[in-house]
Amino acid sequence: MSVPQNTIAIVYDYDQTLSPNYMQEEALFPVFGIDSGHFWKRCGELVKEQGYDNELAYMKVLLDCLEIDRPTNAQLRELGARLTFYEGLPEMFEEFRTSLLPPEFAVHGITVEHYIVSSGMKELIEGSRLAPFIRKIFGCEFAADAQGRITFPKRVISHTQKTQFLFRINKGLLEMDQDVNDHMDPSLRPVPFPNMIYVGDGPTDVPCFTVMRRNGGQAIAVYNSSDPTRSSFKKCYQLSTHADRVRNIAPSDFRAGSHLRLLLEEMVLEIGHRMIRQRREDLEAGTVKAPGH
Ligand SMILES: [Mg+2]
Repeated sequence: MSVPQNTIAIVYDYDQTLSPNYMQEEALFPVFGIDSGHFWKRCGELVKEQGYDNELAYMKVLLDCLEIDRPTNAQLRELGARLTFYEGLPEMFEEFRTSLLPPEFAVHGITVEHYIVSSGMKELIEGSRLAPFIRKIFGCEFAADAQGRITFPKRVISHTQKTQFLFRINKGLLEMDQDVNDHMDPSLRPVPFPNMIYVGDGPTDVPCFTVMRRNGGQAIAVYNSSDPTRSSFKKCYQLSTHADRVRNIAPSDFRAGSHLRLLLEEMVLEIGHRMIRQRREDLEAGTVKAPGH
């Protein structure tokens, strides 16, 4: 038995990959009057002096700063509408729906799905203008108290844990009550790694770049070309030129015709055409039935 492997999955990191800004700074700090310098300084202290994980540090400092002002998860989701993105988003997602794929992909049932795996806050992304285009968003989450106000970290996705979600997409186990460690035969996995593309921005994406590389997937590291310090470009340059972590780097411009768009579209076309070729070979070899017979 096998499952149709018709899906091309593009998996994105969020902060600095889809947006030039950190989501907390954009959606939360101005609303709750939190000072950005103080916030990140306190996070750094928890990490350095008390050995906190980065993600738990920002979640704790956020709860500490909000104190009696703690919002509900629904309010966080509403604040997600404030998030802004790099140029060409969310339009690119719409174009993937309407015009980017050749008609023969539809004939063969080949579709493109988008996923976000972030160490930022899931509720904010869920409330953003990107959400309607995304099959599944994975991110850090807060539990709520009896009044519905956020009270404690419920799920934390550190940069090393992000790879777990690539395997969830690979195996189609998108709900958190499904055990991603269950063995699954490769023919039963809805999105084999060679049908997957990962887009990230830097060292925190290295574990995901490595998983993609080891398993035959594609990866792109993006940089902000308007960053005057060049640190964004330097991170990508190091990853591709010296560390050999990722082959393709491109500015984070998602508009049609940009280097990044050409790379993404070419990868999608290549994967789709490979699927079609494979299906023809299988048909000729008589290993699968032609549709309708
Ligand atoms: Mg990032």
